[in-house]
Amino acid sequence: MRVALVCPRDTDGGASTPVVPPWPRSVRCAHCGDEHTLHGEHASSEGGLRGCFGCGHPELFTQKDFPRALGIAIVVVAALAAPFTYYASLAVAALLDALLYHFAPNVVVCYVCRSEHRGFAARPKHPRFDREIEERLKFGARAVMGKPMRPGGTADAPEPEH
Ligand SMILES: [Zn+2]
Ligand SMILES: [Zn+2]
Repeated sequence: MRVALVCPRDTDGGASTPVVPPWPRSVRCAHCGDEHTLHGEHASSEGGLRGCFGCGHPELFTQKDFPRALGIAIVVVAALAAPFTYYASLAVAALLDALLYHFAPNVVVCYVCRSEHRGFAARPKHPRFDREIEERLKFGARAVMGKPMRPGGTADAPEPEH
């Protein structure tokens, strides 16, 4: 298990501080140098995640921990090689892409501070990114699509339909 904490003051989301167990109560921030509380109480007894370790918010989303640059590199190489391989390189690239994606581990990300949680138990499950939650958190009462927060946040919530 490991957490990449993003500082609440780091508005451009550049710096993150790595934290590994045993979880400390607070962490010295790589961005501002302050001590920030670590919300380790959000780990369930089974090693799952009930909220963000960085800011304590209970709404998180799951995505594949897949380096986007690698995906782009594969496509570029395949496109360059296409004329010499009778375009077979494109099919190989698509296959490689699908395989990498399939085997990529999950990362659970906080909607509020974007802290990343890796290696936690699969339960409770946090669904994939939901724009409705993002909008509500960003615009509050002014959000058109804003649905109220589900009790308990996104833990074991159904996947978004859209
Ligand atoms: Zn900080
Ligand atoms: Zn957070």
